[in-house]
Amino acid sequence: MSAVDRIDAVVIGAGVVGLAVARALALAGRDVVVLERAGEIGSETSSRNSEVIHAGIYYPTGSLKARTCLDGKQALYRYCAEHAVGHARCGKLIVATDAAQIPTLAELKTKAAANGVSDLVWKTPEEVRDLEPAVSCVAALLSPSSGIVDSHGLMLSYLGDAEAAGAMVAFHAPLEAAAVTPEGLRLEVGGQAPMTLLAETVINAAGLSAVETALRIEGLPKSAIPTAYFAKGSYYTLAGRSPFARLIYPVPEAAGLGVHVTVDLGGAARFGPDVEWVSRPDDYDVDPDRALAFYDAVRRYWPELPDGALQPGYAGIRPKLQAPGEPARDFVVQGAEAHGVPGLVNLFGIESPGLTASLALADLTLDTLERARAQAA
Ligand SMILES: Cc1cc2nc3c(=O)[nH]c(=O)nc-3n(C[C@H](O)[C@H](O)[C@H](O)COP(=O)(O)OP(=O)(O)OC[C@H]3O[C@@H](n4cnc5c(N)ncnc54)[C@H](O)[C@@H]3O)c2cc1C
Repeated sequence: MSAVDRIDAVVIGAGVVGLAVARALALAGRDVVVLERAGEIGSETSSRNSEVIHAGIYYPTGSLKARTCLDGKQALYRYCAEHAVGHARCGKLIVATDAAQIPTLAELKTKAAANGVSDLVWKTPEEVRDLEPAVSCVAALLSPSSGIVDSHGLMLSYLGDAEAAGAMVAFHAPLEAAAVTPEGLRLEVGGQAPMTLLAETVINAAGLSAVETALRIEGLPKSAIPTAYFAKGSYYTLAGRSPFARLIYPVPEAAGLGVHVTVDLGGAARFGPDVEWVSRPDDYDVDPDRALAFYDAVRRYWPELPDGALQPGYAGIRPKLQAPGEPARDFVVQGAEAHGVPGLVNLFGIESPGLTASLALADLTLDTLERARAQAA
């Protein structure tokens, strides 16, 4: 290997979004190397989430979250069917447990329709009982297009497509430093086989570390780099089979969607995630003391939840771009038009619905590169 290897395109991070981008670049004929600091794919947020295919209900109309969720959902259902990735269009109920929440449900229905999700239907408490006998509520919205996906199976499938099109993943390969040069981005990669790469295109899909990774790029204006915040979400699991066939969500709360029930493809139920702002994204322990708040939240819609039924499960951490209490920020897909560095795209704040949106985010990343290339020509 020469001192500096020239590479066409580098993706930093082998989570679901990085792999979707690598796949799209490779299918477009680019030579792609994915740098992953861990020893496997998807070891961070992409394997610490609810595995829900979101319908696209909650996000501000016209936002990237709304657009990529809707486009991504359709693309994901199609992709999963065509590539035999485990998934189920199981549907979801958003339940009001207090009459005071009904106007919020009505607002959600209106917002969903404005976002292009026009299939939400009102359900009475009796209709909900017929669908989900364990659930107690005063009114609900049924979202038929919500579903679940095997996130690891999905990542393996993206990886398979990318590799079949010539991409390769370098594991134990952390990006440690980078610099903008007239020939491209010079990348210093540490780990087991340190190397220096010169890349024409670099996609920063480093998830929780995307901001920190951008800060390591000498020549990228600091004014283009947002501040990172982190909101941990813990899950509790239920022993035995799920009493629910669908996803059950309360009305949303600040910074999260409320302690909801999701079912996995094996028929088990998990509750969460809650919201706990943390200063660093490195502690995934589930604090047993949070159980009390889970029992309270879940019993609002499942009053028969038995004492002692919840077991600490796992936790994920949301990469946020707003401080606690500030309004929610949108996904940021940032190309040269925003930061001035040719060939670089930063993906910041890719929290939920990033899994649902992964294929659409990949398309948007390629469009962003193409726009910058056309402008430079
Ligand atoms: C609690 C929770 C619940 C969620 N639920 C859902 C849901 O139900 N549905 C949904 O659509 N979305 C959901 N999401 C969002 C979804 O999980 C994420 O948007 C998605 O997984 C982000 O993928 P990613 O590839 O951007 O990041 P990640 O999966 O975090 O991958 C980033 C990768 O980059 C690597 N990396 C970082 N820095 C470097 C470096 N310097 N060099 C090399 N490698 C590096 C990391 O090791 C990691 O593998 C949820 C998120 C959370 C936290």
